[in-house]
Amino acid sequence: MQQVEPTSIPTTTPRTIPTDIRHQFRQQDIERAHIAQRHHGPAGPRFDDEAFLVSEVEKWVHRCSTCTQRGYDDAHEMWRCGFTGAGGASREIQANKDWMKMVRGKVQYANYTAHFPCGMPQHICPLGDHHADHSEEVQERCRGYRTVLIPMVAMMGKGPQRDAEVTQRWYQRLASRGVVDPERNDEGLIQYFGQRAPGTAQKRSQLTEEFIWLRRAYDGREKCSD
Ligand SMILES: [Zn+2]
Ligand SMILES: [Zn+2]
Ligand SMILES: [Zn+2]
Repeated sequence: MQQVEPTSIPTTTPRTIPTDIRHQFRQQDIERAHIAQRHHGPAGPRFDDEAFLVSEVEKWVHRCSTCTQRGYDDAHEMWRCGFTGAGGASREIQANKDWMKMVRGKVQYANYTAHFPCGMPQHICPLGDHHADHSEEVQERCRGYRTVLIPMVAMMGKGPQRDAEVTQRWYQRLASRGVVDPERNDEGLIQYFGQRAPGTAQKRSQLTEEFIWLRRAYDGREKCSD
C-alpha cells in the first residue's frame, strides 16, 4: 500500500495552545508509549528512546530553534522563521528551509512506521490509531509534531547553526548505515529516512532515530530554555 504525501506546507497560522494544556498532552503521549510497551512486551533500552523522542519533540512544538539559540522570540515554526541574517548567512538559512520542505514533500515512510502527515510513530501520534477521535485537540497534536521532526533534523544536521563536529559524526553514522555521500546525496538520505528502523520493538522510521541521535549528540552543547 503506497501512501501519498501532500507536498504543500500548511499555510494557516497554528493556534498557540496554553502551556499547561501542552504539558498535559505531553503526559498523555508518554502514557501512550507506556501502554504500547505493555501491549508489545518489554522493549528494554529502546523504550527509553521512545520516551526521549516524545519529550524532546514536545519541547520544540511550534518553536524555532534557530531563534532560541539566538535569544530571539522563538514562538513560530522553523520553516516559517522570518530571521534572515545577512549575506551568506541569509542564503544558508533559506537553503535549510528549502531543504526541510523538500524532505517533507518527498519522504515515503515504510508501511506502519509513521503517521504519515507528521512522521511520528503511529502508536504515539493520537491521530495514528484507526480508533482515533478527531477532536480539535487531537488534530492540533499531529500538527504540532509536523512542525518538529523534519525541521529539527534539518537544523541540527545541516542548518546554519549546526555544530560542525556533530554534523561530521552524523555523516559518518549515515555512511556506515549505507547512505552514500550523505552530505550531497539528498535522494539517498530521504530514502533512508523513510525506512523502518531495525531492532525497534515499536515500529518507527529511521527519521525518528536520526532525531533521537542528533538530540543526544547536542545534549549539553546548547543552553536549554525549557
Ligand atoms: Zn525563527
Ligand atoms: Zn487500533
Ligand atoms: Zn500525526
